[in-house]
Amino acid sequence: MNQNVVIMGGGIIGLSCAFELQKRGHRVTLLEIGSCGGQASGAAAGMLAPFSENLEEPDPYFHLCLDSLRLYPTWQAEVRQISGQSFEYSQSGSLYAVYHEADILALEGRLMWQREYGSTGGIVEGDALRRIEPHLSNEVKAALYTPEESHIYAPHYVQALEQACRNLGVRIIEHLESVQIIDGHQGQRGELQEEITVKSKDGRKFPAERLVICSGAWAQELSETLNINLPIYPIRGQICAYRTAQHTVKGMVFNNQGYVVAKDNGTVVCGASEDIAGFDTSVTEKGIERLRKWNKRLFPFLERKVPFHRWAGLRPSTQDGRPLLGALEAAEQIVFAAGHYRNGILLSPMTAKIVADTIERFDLPSYYSAFAPERFNHIMMR
Ligand SMILES: Cc1cc2nc3c(=O)[nH]c(=O)nc-3n(C[C@H](O)[C@H](O)[C@H](O)COP(=O)(O)OP(=O)(O)OC[C@H]3O[C@@H](n4cnc5c(N)ncnc54)[C@H](O)[C@@H]3O)c2cc1C
Repeated sequence: MNQNVVIMGGGIIGLSCAFELQKRGHRVTLLEIGSCGGQASGAAAGMLAPFSENLEEPDPYFHLCLDSLRLYPTWQAEVRQISGQSFEYSQSGSLYAVYHEADILALEGRLMWQREYGSTGGIVEGDALRRIEPHLSNEVKAALYTPEESHIYAPHYVQALEQACRNLGVRIIEHLESVQIIDGHQGQRGELQEEITVKSKDGRKFPAERLVICSGAWAQELSETLNINLPIYPIRGQICAYRTAQHTVKGMVFNNQGYVVAKDNGTVVCGASEDIAGFDTSVTEKGIERLRKWNKRLFPFLERKVPFHRWAGLRPSTQDGRPLLGALEAAEQIVFAAGHYRNGILLSPMTAKIVADTIERFDLPSYYSAFAPERFNHIMMR
């Protein structure tokens, strides 16, 4: 049955949930305290890299990332078609570079388990490596090549997604300054209350059958209202971009300190720091200098260049680095989709599918329980 859904937050996660739910026939209102895409989502480098982001083992988080990557080709084509807007989406592949012979063993270990999950890559060295990235530093001994990984130009993509939502009929209300839950959230365990209501600063009330929390690093503010432990913290990412001759860097290159990714417009984006600075999004000289030091170890030509653009965003990180996904056991009308930390752009299509399937009571993937929003309740609330 079609439901009246309110979404709190207009980043990539809120917009993706709105897009999926409205497509499935629900009536969606999205509320944003600032402007859509104005926080972490507009700041992201846009890498869709489940293999490079998961080095250790195929745990539930890896499966979530991989499932989401596999939705991307169809998902982004739909956003493009419904919005009528274009954005860069490149299936460029990626390299994960190492500097010592001994580290090649670790790459081989990773490759072995990642091949079981569809990676068709391999270890590349010498001429083969330089054919993929001709300007890569000679210091790099080898790299793990993963052709399946992609990237998207996040600021344009988020704009297109917002337009696609509007074209589908999602009601988007921005610049609300504050949005709070005021009623209907104190149900019994497993109980679906008739209505939940949120209120914006200007006094408007928004009743809904379902409320989806997509407020990123700000979701922790709901701990007290909902009486659950929501350990979500902002982790600042400082990032910068250089202008280069087109195709000097061809795709995405990671090392254990950061990444470099080439965009179609000839810019090269290099990221990103991980600082604890509260909700401060300023850029520091120290943060950018540290990036520059590592960039030149991947591409020495970057040493002679000065970034033309520097910015920062707040990644919403949970205590275990995994998102909060799904309905609250104690109040089923509230669905969480927050805390996507380093991979919210990658995870957005699968998050939207899980949120919509939860609301429609469809079967969910077996790994889904690893992301239960109430999983931190046993840890004492601060
Ligand atoms: C420098 C950097 C690089 C990154 N690179 C990548 C990458 O390459 N690949 C990748 O997959 N991910 C990347 N990420 C991570 C990714 O950007 C985040 O995981 C993702 O944007 C989180 O999306 P979100 O919608 O949850 O949060 P946000 O984009 O922060 O959106 C949350 C929104 O909620 C709003 N809000 C807050 N409180 C309320 C309220 N009470 N009511 C209504 N609205 C509210 C906020 O104003 C905000 O607009 C990067 C992040 C950074 C900072």
